Amino acid sequence: MRLVSPLLKRVLYPCLAQTGFLRRQMGEDDLCVVTYHGVLPRGYRSPHAALDGALVTADSFRRQLRFLKSRYNVISAQQFLTWRQNESTLPPRAVLVTSDDGLRNTLTEMLPILQEEEVTCLFFVTGASLWEKPGMLWYEELYLMLLTAPDWALSLDLGAGAMQSRLGHVKTRHSVWWSLVKALSGFDSDKRRELLENARGQLRLPENWNQPYMEDPVQQRRFLLLSLTELRQLAAAGMPIGAHSLSHPVLSQLPSPVAWKEIAESRSALASALGEPVWSFAYPFGDPAGVSERELEMAARSGYKCAFLNRGGRFGRGVPAFAIPRVHVTADMSLAEFEAHVSGFQQALRRRLMGPEFIPAAAVHS
Ligand SMILES: [Zn+2]
Repeated sequence: MRLVSPLLKRVLYPCLAQTGFLRRQMGEDDLCVVTYHGVLPRGYRSPHAALDGALVTADSFRRQLRFLKSRYNVISAQQFLTWRQNESTLPPRAVLVTSDDGLRNTLTEMLPILQEEEVTCLFFVTGASLWEKPGMLWYEELYLMLLTAPDWALSLDLGAGAMQSRLGHVKTRHSVWWSLVKALSGFDSDKRRELLENARGQLRLPENWNQPYMEDPVQQRRFLLLSLTELRQLAAAGMPIGAHSLSHPVLSQLPSPVAWKEIAESRSALASALGEPVWSFAYPFGDPAGVSERELEMAARSGYKCAFLNRGGRFGRGVPAFAIPRVHVTADMSLAEFEAHVSGFQQALRRRLMGPEFIPAAAVHS
């Protein structure tokens, strides 16, 4: 797929998009959900492409919304819910726009574009946005820590034996980071915070190492999460809000009582902070490896009406309510590639070339 990929992106997708072939792939009753993770603030310079790979520029975001409005039918979260409950039909080629994590730039950069384009977006936020000083996503903080640190051996006691790594090249740091994300996800948020502080000490970073991110206005918009006041502004602007766990762990790594708390309490706490019911959940990370049948069952039992993965493409009415696929929009997607994903063509092709992707689930009834 690695060799085929540039050919698809540069030749095949643009041809198929231009002829209208991609658009015709979507049946009358099909729909698609797209996921954003924020819009890069003006003036921001990325320290490392992998760190910002899920955020798009303001221009791309506007172009993609205009494209969806002109060729597809953008629907609201409420239309989606009513359809899901078998109470209505949708326009053909329906697309729901969602955004995960609740970074501050969702309010400062995304909302003005959504308002200009008259599109609503379902925002999934974590428990951090129920406070006035929410800080950063812990796994982004860890990434920045590893990027900033000199080459140094890291040894963290994670209970079942110490985890040892030597940093070095940026690629090594990326794989150390992902191993640590999975390992640290196995702890509750207090213990995870303690282990991160331990890692900071071992990496010989001063206590105020993250000051540039916490104090510079552009960096704040990129890295800080929405405060409760900002979240309420987003909701007051007519944007529906869903839950994205309390602390954004890889849920499948957690003991059951902690996973349950992450899923169920994020719903009740968010609902009481906003003063309205919360019916939707997006699994943090949301890839098949991070979500098992256990999490699907917990999401169903804790009172949500549906829950979203972060993989997949278009689907029809038979979709399992607690494993709804979404197209993960990335920074490097051209409009043609975006359409190849939205229309389901990319997913069908991937299935042909690589076999079906495991999606937990099907066992969970709606
Ligand atoms: Zn997320």
